[in-house]
Amino acid sequence: FERKQKQLGVELNKIQRKAVERTEGPLLLLACPGSGKTTTMIMRVGYLIEEKKVQPHRIKAITFSKASAIDMQERYKRFFPKLAPVDFSTIHSLAFQITREYFAESRYVMIEGSESHGLHKKRLLREMFETEVGEPITDDQLDELTSFISFVKNKMTPREQWNKLEAPFEGAIEILKTYEAFKENYDVRLVDFDDMLSLANEALEKDADLLAKYQNRWDYVMTDESQDTSMIQHAIVEKLVARHNNLCVVADDDQSIYTWRAAEPTYLLKFKNVYPDAYVMKMERNYRSSKNIVEAANLFIKTNKKRHDKNMFTKQPEGDPIVIRRLASEEAQLKYVMKELKELKHFGDVAILYRNNSSSTLLMSELDRLGIPFYMKDADNRFFSHWIVEDMLNFMRFSLKPERIDIYAKIASKTNAYWSGSQLKQLSRMKPTAKNTFGEINLNITLKDYQLKILAEQKKWFDALNGMKPLKVIRTIRADLGYDQMLASRAEKFGMRLQYLEQILITLEQIAEPLSSMTEFAKRLKELEQVTQNAKAEKTEDMLTLSTFHSSKGLEFERVYMIDLVEGIIPTEEDAENPDTLEEARRLFYVGMTRAKKHLELISYDSESRFVDEVRDIVVPEKPVAPKTRTVVKTPIKVDVPDNPNAAQREDELLEGAKVRHRVFGTGKIIERDHERISIQFAKERKELLIDICLSYK
Ligand code: ATP
Ligand code: MG
Repeated sequence: FERKQKQLGVELNKIQRKAVERTEGPLLLLACPGSGKTTTMIMRVGYLIEEKKVQPHRIKAITFSKASAIDMQERYKRFFPKLAPVDFSTIHSLAFQITREYFAESRYVMIEGSESHGLHKKRLLREMFETEVGEPITDDQLDELTSFISFVKNKMTPREQWNKLEAPFEGAIEILKTYEAFKENYDVRLVDFDDMLSLANEALEKDADLLAKYQNRWDYVMTDESQDTSMIQHAIVEKLVARHNNLCVVADDDQSIYTWRAAEPTYLLKFKNVYPDAYVMKMERNYRSSKNIVEAANLFIKTNKKRHDKNMFTKQPEGDPIVIRRLASEEAQLKYVMKELKELKHFGDVAILYRNNSSSTLLMSELDRLGIPFYMKDADNRFFSHWIVEDMLNFMRFSLKPERIDIYAKIASKTNAYWSGSQLKQLSRMKPTAKNTFGEINLNITLKDYQLKILAEQKKWFDALNGMKPLKVIRTIRADLGYDQMLASRAEKFGMRLQYLEQILITLEQIAEPLSSMTEFAKRLKELEQVTQNAKAEKTEDMLTLSTFHSSKGLEFERVYMIDLVEGIIPTEEDAENPDTLEEARRLFYVGMTRAKKHLELISYDSESRFVDEVRDIVVPEKPVAPKTRTVVKTPIKVDVPDNPNAAQREDELLEGAKVRHRVFGTGKIIERDHERISIQFAKERKELLIDICLSYK
């Protein structure tokens, strides 16, 4: 087997080898990112088959996302192309199998995913929300609601305690109860993905034959990324291995990023209680990333208090310094990233990572324009179906066709005309006819005097939109037709994040900027929607990867650009409210950082994320590094301390000859500058610095 390893180019270290060879009994591998957890698991599978002569179908490897199941399968095929397939699957698909068998005779209906027909979880929840709250549900609220329900089920929270739960919004607990009751009382049993887990667990508990069958099916069970396993999932795995306890659990508590979905990383701490004869091993040597990245990430995560202390290290060369870029605006960020990409010849080993899928919209638009091939992991960009986008299009449509009262009815409540509920109802019943021309106030609806005044004003604005460029149109809708005002009051009323909603408008404005007509704008949105659809395609050789931090877990790339590292995004205000959620946000940031093999860039604008600042504090060397290297931004370049009103605000303040003070280098004089760089003579030495970083400090 050792010869085999050499052939594969992975010579296992002592600990890895021990983990591979210790095949019997429970084993917990608690290890750092890039330390070869997944690699070790795959080698263990190979070892079991080749050395221990175990039949491949007697081995079961479980992961918690489809993507990592596929990733493991691919790595296995690459390492052991001649061996028969091994069963790599997600815990959900295992639960599905068990449930299907258990319910073979009675019937049940799946109401989630592609298997569902007719009745669908999301549709049911939509209806229940409307009944309960009396308002249509937004996509974000639906997300919150499904996460909440998922959380409760995965935590195995008993029904009696539901009333005491912390609900994401008022009415959520009622909806949870209604939803559960509905599924149970329907003619056939209705189940969703989470029920699948509960039912599988229940089936194994109740049906001794079924349990025996599954326990006898596999002799070796392994779970990767176990820090993301929930209580109910642990319960299933425990039952599955009870006959032999040949269980290998691989995890990194520092990469636990799903506690909001009820992952239970503390289970790892209690592993020895569940399996008293368990053997616990740590792997701390990172094989993935260069030294600069490993050392910074290692110190960065130590700020978290609730963790197993580990000391990640590497024997890899230093590599590029971590690049910290603070740009003047989101637009500047986009420009910068595109400029970087244009200089590259290959994209297959490059990733752009961000916290929210919404960050991908403008990126995709630009990549598409530049013809850079890309794919999106777990593509779920719902930008184009967001109600704000729909609203903007409706404002535009109505301005082009003012007789379409039916379109106005859709946006009336989003304007400053203060339509009452009953007025809105009347409005929505009106048929579009030329006679009903808006603004002629021939609406047959009794309106208050002030409303008439506002409507006359609105008519003026709607007419004016007609000749404007789309960017101006959006701004007019926001300011003059009262959209921004409405957004703020809605955000408050429904507990939505205003910053996030405004971001959608900003993105729309950026898309609109170069365009000259509303029709062109609508066409561009359609095009981009198509681009998004196409981005879901399989990754082929030379495609750039776009991914959320969450979906990048387990993966690695030569170059990683982490973007939108801004306070309010990572961490969000809610993250920062409580030490546990702040730690989870820090872990998420850490997962992103540790994806990079050789080159890592942290990019921000506006108010830079505190996490970037933490990294900066780590990577600032005591002795400044040599100037003149464009990418060397190891030194945080600040013209003055942040928030100092005397600091440079605009580029034209940094004229040649001007005196400046730098946080690290002290006072100096500007000797030379061009559009990108600035050369400053400090007391001891001359430094070449990048302007956009200087500038970003207000
Ligand atoms: P993550 O926590 O991100 O999931 P991981 O611990 O699963 O990471 P792997 O993905 O298995 O780590 O390995 C990271 C990289 O290190 C891979 O490129 C792998 O090939 C390499 N690697 C792992 N072990 C060794 C080794 N003993 N010798 C050489 N390379 C190794
Ligand atoms: Mg892994």
